[in-house]
Amino acid sequence: MDWDYDGERGPEHWKQLCPAFFEAEEGSLQSPIMLSEKTATKADQQKKARFFYETTRFSTSFYNHTVHLAPLEKEKQNKILFDDTPFFLDDIHVHLPSEHQIDEHTFAMEIHFVHRSAQQEILVVAVMAEKSMQEKSNQTFSLDHIKDQTQCTLVLPDWTPQSSSFFYYSGSLTTPPTKGPVNWLVFKEPISLDASLLNDMQQQLGKTNRPLQPIQDRSVHLYSDTE
Ligand SMILES: [Zn+2]
Repeated sequence: MDWDYDGERGPEHWKQLCPAFFEAEEGSLQSPIMLSEKTATKADQQKKARFFYETTRFSTSFYNHTVHLAPLEKEKQNKILFDDTPFFLDDIHVHLPSEHQIDEHTFAMEIHFVHRSAQQEILVVAVMAEKSMQEKSNQTFSLDHIKDQTQCTLVLPDWTPQSSSFFYYSGSLTTPPTKGPVNWLVFKEPISLDASLLNDMQQQLGKTNRPLQPIQDRSVHLYSDTE
């Protein structure tokens, strides 16, 4: 089922496009949402997400209006331990501008690292990206990688922030069918991206963000690495 980010098949109409989209949107709490440091519940326990990310080779493809990177078959070593459950990385893609807002701020780009557990539970890590003020950042990804079916290598630890403070809440996928539940870990600090790469992404991909959804009575936790 074709859908879009504006017009007759835009986000306000997704749930009218087909029964599966309707069911997904009505059947679970939706994402993205506004995240706020002031209103989030401070989690006083040790942060409970542990990242095991390594340099990894990916194959690229283009669908759902954006570029996707899938780890090559033999490279399933990237995982997150969350609440003692291992979630394995199986897709990376981007949205422009960011889908989540943090303290009412929209970032230039939001990167989604999609993980699945052995029981097929979904956990998405969201990393915000802003233009680097430096000449060169250390990410090696270039837009050449999304032009065709290609392969690329990413030093994954360079794609997550140094500070590991993150928001946690339960929501949904942000592209149709917007099914939940999805465990969301949204890093509070952005990473810096090469300005030319971001400009290229903006030109080639355009607007690919779903509008904010009602928070309703959800609890949002903030895990801080400074206390
Ligand atoms: Zn996404």
